[in-house]
Amino acid sequence: MRVPEAKALPASLRREIRLGFSLAIVVLVATGVTAVQAIRRSYARIEERALARQRLTDLRRAFRFLLYAETGQRGFLLTGRESFAEPYRVALDSLVLRLAALQAGSPPGDQDAPHVQAFVRLTHAKLAHIAATIALRRSQGLAAAASAVESGRGEALMDSVRSHLATLEDERERGVVALDSQVRSSGAFAVRITVVAGSLAVLLLVAALVVISRDMARREESQAKARESEVRLFQLLEALPVAVFVTDGAGKPYYTNRAMQELVGADLANLSVPEILERHPVFLVGTDQPYPADRLPLVTALAGGRAHVADLAQRMGERMVPLEVWASPVLAGDGRVSSVIVVVSDVEEQRRTERELRELSEELADLYEQAPCGYHSVDDTGAILRINRTELAWLGYERDDVVGRLHITDLLTPSSRQRFAETFSGFKERGALRNLELEFVRRDGTSFPVMVNATAVREAQGRFLMSRSSVQDITERRLAEDAARVAKENAEAANHAKSDFLAKMSHELRTPLNSVIGFSEMLEDEAAGPLSDRQRRYVGNVLSGGRQLLQLINDVLDLSKIEAGRMELRRTGFEVATAIHEAAETVSVLARERQLTLGVEVEPELPLLIADRPKVKQILYNLLSNAIKYTRPGGRVTLAARRLPPLPGREEGLELAVTDTGIGIAPEDRERIFQEFEQVDSAFVRRQQGTGLGLALTRRLLALHGGRVAVESELGRGSVFRAWLPFRAGAVGTYDAVAGPDGGSAPLVLVVEDDDAAAQLLLHYLAAAGFRGVRATSGGEALRLARELRPDAISLDILLGDRDGLEVLSRLKGAPETAAIPVVVVSVTDTRELGFSLGAAEWLVKPIQRDAFSAAIRRAVAAAPGVARSVLIVDDDPAALELLESYLADEGFRVSTASGGREAIARALSERPDLLVLDLLMPGVNGFDVVKALQADPRGRGIPILICTAKDVTAEERESLRGSVLAVVAKADGREALLGELARAGVRSPGAA
Ligand code: ADP
Repeated sequence: MRVPEAKALPASLRREIRLGFSLAIVVLVATGVTAVQAIRRSYARIEERALARQRLTDLRRAFRFLLYAETGQRGFLLTGRESFAEPYRVALDSLVLRLAALQAGSPPGDQDAPHVQAFVRLTHAKLAHIAATIALRRSQGLAAAASAVESGRGEALMDSVRSHLATLEDERERGVVALDSQVRSSGAFAVRITVVAGSLAVLLLVAALVVISRDMARREESQAKARESEVRLFQLLEALPVAVFVTDGAGKPYYTNRAMQELVGADLANLSVPEILERHPVFLVGTDQPYPADRLPLVTALAGGRAHVADLAQRMGERMVPLEVWASPVLAGDGRVSSVIVVVSDVEEQRRTERELRELSEELADLYEQAPCGYHSVDDTGAILRINRTELAWLGYERDDVVGRLHITDLLTPSSRQRFAETFSGFKERGALRNLELEFVRRDGTSFPVMVNATAVREAQGRFLMSRSSVQDITERRLAEDAARVAKENAEAANHAKSDFLAKMSHELRTPLNSVIGFSEMLEDEAAGPLSDRQRRYVGNVLSGGRQLLQLINDVLDLSKIEAGRMELRRTGFEVATAIHEAAETVSVLARERQLTLGVEVEPELPLLIADRPKVKQILYNLLSNAIKYTRPGGRVTLAARRLPPLPGREEGLELAVTDTGIGIAPEDRERIFQEFEQVDSAFVRRQQGTGLGLALTRRLLALHGGRVAVESELGRGSVFRAWLPFRAGAVGTYDAVAGPDGGSAPLVLVVEDDDAAAQLLLHYLAAAGFRGVRATSGGEALRLARELRPDAISLDILLGDRDGLEVLSRLKGAPETAAIPVVVVSVTDTRELGFSLGAAEWLVKPIQRDAFSAAIRRAVAAAPGVARSVLIVDDDPAALELLESYLADEGFRVSTASGGREAIARALSERPDLLVLDLLMPGVNGFDVVKALQADPRGRGIPILICTAKDVTAEERESLRGSVLAVVAKADGREALLGELARAGVRSPGAA
């Protein structure tokens, strides 16, 4: 405990103060001496003056006696009587004495002395003269005496005496004045010097006073501070969480803080060491033995040493509380111990925590060692620093063989060593490693797969210290994975085999079935002559059986394709309304037959649906035909389409709802009916022709589009099947909605224009002129839309953002699917010669006149060279040939046929038909070969080809045919599909033209 001292005066200041005082004293002494001297001098002068004045008085008195003597002389001389001479005798007695005194009284060096001497001498002479005259009178009488007087000598002597007296009086007068001024000046000097010295001394004393008082203030301040810090120190000691007591040099506590009082439960103040020990005995920790007195920290500190013990305990009620004690002596100036500070800390809590930590770390160590996975740590070179027992057991090593001896790579197979080398530096940088698979090598040389996860342990500065790696033995997982892979491969092989089988089977089945259906249709249409009612009924049965069989085959094949992941969607943008009307149209005959009302409700202005159009129609057909099948005559079936607002996180979708007033579906059947071959078991259902595949396929087709289907139903009252699908199933680029009059029959014009305003204007002109319009914003989109939509005409801007319009034109004209589409160029420049040479039909220069534009479009659509007159049909199946021939002949085509590939090539090259309808699967030279051969020959290159096949055309095959053929139609889809596809490809049949 140290109380801060008052700050001592700086030495320089102390020196100054001492100097100030000394100077003041010197000045005062010097002044005193000088003043005393001056005063002394003044006194001397005054003395002198008094002396001179006294002498002058003596002289004057002597002179008066002389005059008295003369008076006596005169009286005697005149009278001759001795009584008259009496004054002379009196004066003579007195004068002799006085003159002697005067002569003796003048000090040496006295400037008056000569005059005094002269005065004395002359006075003596006068006295002698007087004596002589008196003697003469006495002796010779009056006359002799009178003549002696008359000689004037007495007179002259008297005058001389008088003059010397006068001189002395003058001198004295002057002397007094000089003396006075001397006295005055030395008095003034004394006053001046006293004033100056006094002020100087006062000044010095004031300065010293200022310094001293300032120092005293400072001292007071620092003493106050010291007192304050002392108070604060004690407050601090009071607040300390450890117990503190301070003893005097004899070991008697004179201060104990609050914690100390709480610890011992009493104030120790003024108890001696033995008294303290008696009241609060201390023990060796963990024992009942008293703590050795000579080792007590207080005792050590009293002897001058510092002490710290941690093995001391104190009994507190029942408990023994372990204490930790520090003691340090405070030494006085003479080296004696003046006091001892003792700090006591209750370490019970700390000891408990330490114990718990120890237990925890033992538990952790146990977990580390016994964990079911391996643990190890490696340093930054990969040397193993530690490893747990589990991992050692896996590897077949002892700890001492590994730690500090082996490198992790020593435990790896060569290939794993490579992997480790590749990942280790990255791990050290990133600090983590996830699921690294390695092969460990056991001591016996065998290996096993492991998965390692690790984190880096770093120093505070971030340097890599070691890894903390966990290791899992993944032998079993590997085995399971291998088994799963084999199983998957087997399943895939089986699936493949199944798909192959189904594809082959369906082809084999469909080929004769096509003939059955086709010819039955022709019979039914009485194309081969009139039928009797019975015959018509039979043919009808054949037809419906055939169709059902075909449906079954198609459904099975579709399902297996979806299952095998081989079903691909061919997405195009189309109008929902059109597709819905077409679907309704397809089933209208059926509905009529069953005396059902069929209603269609389509919300106006639905966006363009981007989806696989035939598949959407298939979905609609499945739902509609079910509704019709399972509704009793007189009921009602409605197909409604509406836009569903987007749910959060979902896009806007289209709902297609098919509602019927039919038999309904029991709750327990509602999920089951979506499974393959599942039908509701009822007499009514059994009477319907069904395969149990329709809903399963519907659900899968919707799923492929990102959609779904659900049913609501009430038994006996009817059902609603709701299909939902997004408007844009998968990204297909952007189509603007097809603008123009309703219905799908108006000619479609593709407007290629990158400027929005210009495009809107052109679409508006088109709508006004009775055309449908669709817009492409770039050259790339134009090419794609032309291919997908097969518009009747294209309006093409030459300045496009992505590519030159002329390039788009030449590409359109270079591809067989789009070559026939007339192109009206709309441009700000006029390079029409070049345009026409590239195949443009019309060239309009901007700004466009509305009438000129519609007239040009109308001309282009009318002049479309899509009218095909001659068609060559190629198929190895005579029945198919006959069927196709009859379809196309009905449309006004001039038909010729070829039954094999080789013949087809020859005929095509020589006859140059306007259209080639080609089967793909033919023995020998097949359809693909024919396409290739014709493409290779300049004569054959321009012939448009339509593939009509019973084969399932794969995506690759379709891709290989792309650009070389107009379209691919499935034979099974029949006449309408064939003619529809021809129309879409821009081929106008003579009949329709
Ligand atoms: P199916 O060829 O038998 O119609 P689906 O898969 O299309 O096969 O339908 C499965 C079953 O679901 C049907 O057999 C029928 O029992 C039931 N079902 C389907 N649609 C309806 C409906 N609109 N009303 C009542 N039952 C229906």
